[in-house]
Amino acid sequence: MRKAAILLILLLLFPFQASYAADAPPAGLPAPREEVAVLTYHHLEPSSTGKHLTNSAVLPVEEFSWQMKYLYDNNFYTMTMEEMKEFLAGRFNPPRRAVLITFDDGYESNYIYAFPLLSRYSFRAAIFVIGKKPGDEYGGTGPVTVGASVPNRHMTTYQIKTMLRTGLLEFGCHTYDNHRLIDGKAALTVLGTDVIREDLLRFNNTLGMVGIPVPSAIAYPYGAGSKNAVEAASSMGYRLGFTVHSGYVHPGDNSMFINRFSIRPGDGREYFTGVVNGNWKPPEKVTPKE
Ligand SMILES: [Zn+2]
Repeated sequence: MRKAAILLILLLLFPFQASYAADAPPAGLPAPREEVAVLTYHHLEPSSTGKHLTNSAVLPVEEFSWQMKYLYDNNFYTMTMEEMKEFLAGRFNPPRRAVLITFDDGYESNYIYAFPLLSRYSFRAAIFVIGKKPGDEYGGTGPVTVGASVPNRHMTTYQIKTMLRTGLLEFGCHTYDNHRLIDGKAALTVLGTDVIREDLLRFNNTLGMVGIPVPSAIAYPYGAGSKNAVEAASSMGYRLGFTVHSGYVHPGDNSMFINRFSIRPGDGREYFTGVVNGNWKPPEKVTPKE
């Protein structure tokens, strides 16, 4: 009886430890990671087009395909943006090895090639779209989005909504019209807070008008965030900001300057598996010899 009373007191004193133990992964499975790799893709094309040979933002579909299969075969967990937010705040632990899959620019090729594969594996992913389209109409089907690095079609509103309905894809902001350079520098590193905010407001309104949920995550064009961009985005309700700085993401990291790994053509299997398995190391700084 006395033993039971002590146990009860212990349980009352340490309820979190008890529940933490219950959440621990079963023996034999890898422990939840303390770091997560965010993967960045852009445009996809079959390798036969040869476009990947001259543009590092074009990944052959075949490479994307084996990468997704690798993640699936090795039981990777694909995170949502909300889970990333909670992970950064230390409130979410992925149940197993995890990645966050992202795409920048909103190319139609994501819909044509990536979406079927992501659906097959029930993978979650986020696509950062640009608001402005030729003719200034969101969901246009013109050949180029202002400032985008690859002149190709961008996804339409219909395609975005089709992907949204699956619950697997979500959409983030890649600015309305600030995917551009000003005097050779990324616009967001040059413009003032008010101007950046105005552009984001236009982005949000454009999505709102066509019935696409307004996001709370932004990927800075060229990965280049700035103090002004963070200030503007935060004031507009954005809670996550993604760069293209290579490195893992850990709980406690700055949620407006999140690292991402760019996945480029020809990176190879070793690089990719190293990144997602937590074996990537920052390149050593070479100090020039005197
Ligand atoms: Zn971009």
